[in-house]
Amino acid sequence: MSKTLKYGIMSLLAVMLPLSAMTAQDQMPVRSAPVQTMDPVFVPEYLSVGTAVDLDNPAAYLYPDWNNVYLHTFEGAVLPDTVVVSMNGYCLPTDSTYITDKFGYRPRRGRSHMGLDVKVKIGDTIRAAFDGKVRISKYERRGYGHYLIIRHPNGLETVYGHLSRRLVDENDIVHAGDPIGLGGNSGRSTGSHLHFETRILGNAINPESLFDFPNHCIVTDSYVFTKNKREVYYKVRSGDTLSGIASRNSTSVTNICRLNGISKNTVLRVGQTLRVN
Ligand SMILES: [Zn+2]
Repeated sequence: MSKTLKYGIMSLLAVMLPLSAMTAQDQMPVRSAPVQTMDPVFVPEYLSVGTAVDLDNPAAYLYPDWNNVYLHTFEGAVLPDTVVVSMNGYCLPTDSTYITDKFGYRPRRGRSHMGLDVKVKIGDTIRAAFDGKVRISKYERRGYGHYLIIRHPNGLETVYGHLSRRLVDENDIVHAGDPIGLGGNSGRSTGSHLHFETRILGNAINPESLFDFPNHCIVTDSYVFTKNKREVYYKVRSGDTLSGIASRNSTSVTNICRLNGISKNTVLRVGQTLRVN
């Protein structure tokens, strides 16, 4: 059996591992102090297998093909129930610690924001978050502006938008920390910033579940992505409104109403528990 094939099969086993095989603690990426002071996280042996994959064909165990065309759709892809994403060898894409817009639902615009906006100046160096291969390097006037999508062996694809310049080409192999672009204000953007997305097979993950920009570190050594979202609850406090709760929890009023069988005009009680996701 070839080495690549062996890695492929072992990686496939890894992503199909049932969640029950991990402890409850491992399922909870907890926001915590900088990495060096974190409690050791159980890192299963197969993670080292996953990261050993050839950079020419990163995360081939997850993605059905390699193309420079489609942004976030993957024909014929099967999303596993659980994907363990190793943060091994990460680099924050910018030195900036200032978040200007969060991930999730934006009540003002009535749509979701699939990434995180981090303040950068025009010309600031933007770096690859992990080793990987550049899948898309393009310009989109009405959207991302100059943007890049990089696929990584850990299963993630990262997106870097509104750049003033792209420094890498499609199919280039990059290493974590390599300069890949310069900060800018291109595309649909008001004020220079980096729009940063983290996705698995096109499914957006809140970058703040992985990276802690204000403290310039990571949130967890291994992030456990589960297809079925965890249930999230919120206890109503004095002065809360449904729209306020929705925005704070990156969801919509409609979603909260659906999950709790209430209407948007329902009067909330202090201390009441609402499911928000
Ligand atoms: Zn954005």
